[in-house]
Amino acid sequence: MNINKRLNNIQFSKTRNSVCNSSPFFSYRSMKNSLFLTVDGTIPCTHAWKMRILTLNLVRNIQNNCLFHKESNCFLTRNYVMSKIKIDLELLKQNAKNTETATKELFTRFKKKKPKQLDSIVHTLHDEVFEDLDCLECANCCKSISPIVIDKDIERLAKQFRMKPSEFINQYLYMDNENDYVFKETPCPFLMPDNYCMVYENRPRACREYPHTDRKRFYQILDLTLKNTHYCPAVYEVVDRLKKKKEQL
Ligand code: SF4
Ligand code: SF4
Repeated sequence: MNINKRLNNIQFSKTRNSVCNSSPFFSYRSMKNSLFLTVDGTIPCTHAWKMRILTLNLVRNIQNNCLFHKESNCFLTRNYVMSKIKIDLELLKQNAKNTETATKELFTRFKKKKPKQLDSIVHTLHDEVFEDLDCLECANCCKSISPIVIDKDIERLAKQFRMKPSEFINQYLYMDNENDYVFKETPCPFLMPDNYCMVYENRPRACREYPHTDRKRFYQILDLTLKNTHYCPAVYEVVDRLKKKKEQL
């Protein structure tokens, strides 16, 4: 799950903004370019939106706390409140099923002759798709697929809960047919009602890497990607856009 990707580049200021003192999150600094932005419902928030460094949660915070945003049809609210890619998981299942044959055909072609530019095209599509999609509106991977939890993940997670690794295993994990530890339950026990991950900093490596559309040697995970088109709107979108570029491959 790719949540808060954009937050990695932002350091929130501890100070309150002079224009709106209802939210502590109204001033922040982008570490990447050291540009100081204030989000007060006027021009700077438009600027921040254009830079795509606002998270949905921050937008909600603004909407809930700032009278300007509550009372006006402001640019930020109109343009950034929802992911640009509509997340409809029922429609996703249907679309993935309807396009499965075409996806298989494309992937069979890639398996026979691996296109040289495949990784760079898929990685560009990955970046484009995640610019327009907020995982916090989805969390379908956390709701429907259990990640593999390796020993290092278990150590980190057990430490967070001040448990012994064996206690953590007993409480949360079981060993599947392939001898991998996975969560006993789906949705994941650490998924919170607002789709945030309770253990985000210590989440399993498999969660960090999902949905794998930015990994090297993409041709090695074509079967997994086909499966993921049924669960992950981002993967479906990447594959759909990839089909439109198939002449280049
Ligand atoms: S299923 Fe895909 S789009 Fe949805 S939260 Fe997971 S990674 Fe993000
Ligand atoms: S630990 Fe659970 S809630 Fe967190 S990212 Fe992984 S599957 Fe999602």
